Amino acid sequence: MTVGLFILAGLLGVVYVFWLASSRPSDETKPASPVAGPSATPRPTRSPRPTRTPRPTEPPQVSPAPSPTAGPQKVGVVAGHWQSDPGAICPDGLQEVTINLDVASRVVAILQTEGYDAQLLAEFSDRLEGYKADAFVSIHTDSCAVPEASGFKVARVVASAIPAEEDRLVACLIREYGRVTGLRFHENSITFDMTDYHAFREIDPNTPGAIIELGFMAADRQLLTDHSDMVAQGVAQGILCFLRGE
Ligand SMILES: [Zn+2]
Repeated sequence: MTVGLFILAGLLGVVYVFWLASSRPSDETKPASPVAGPSATPRPTRSPRPTRTPRPTEPPQVSPAPSPTAGPQKVGVVAGHWQSDPGAICPDGLQEVTINLDVASRVVAILQTEGYDAQLLAEFSDRLEGYKADAFVSIHTDSCAVPEASGFKVARVVASAIPAEEDRLVACLIREYGRVTGLRFHENSITFDMTDYHAFREIDPNTPGAIIELGFMAADRQLLTDHSDMVAQGVAQGILCFLRGE
């Protein structure tokens, strides 16, 4: 009887072990947990290998060939009488060169801020001979001789090699200087000294040039001395009008 029980227990043990062994694999096929299953990210499919881009037969052009006019445009600004003489002198001692230099320096600064290669030039600078630039303007001021006279003047050389270009520079200066300063154009008093201005005979004939008389040192004094920033802005805007082809 005891032996029979032992054999039965042994058989049950063997059956249990077999049952365990046979049920394990079916457990593993189940998902680990119902939550993890759906959220499990699918294994990404392998992205296709990019095909090699064919090598260009010729090296790509990095930048266009530099044109001869590359770089900032050049502008020459003469401070009338500077490093030469005082110019006109009023009875109270005010000198023309003081106004000219103040305004010309400001014009150069404005143009440089706008990205142009602007240069301040003396009245009889050695650099004027054959001077090449995209624009050239000489800045002068009229005397105190006629106390009631008011207004500005602009002129170019009479015998111009590029009359259309220089007329456009003159027109731009008249339009913009008048607009910014509010001064009127003193039309009928362009003098021979202006149209035969010495620098016009020195600079390269293909450099568009003009001379401006900013106003009269008596009647226009307040504008010329107290508002030289506005006066300079008027000249600079006239030059920019020309350079931008407006
Ligand atoms: Zn002068």
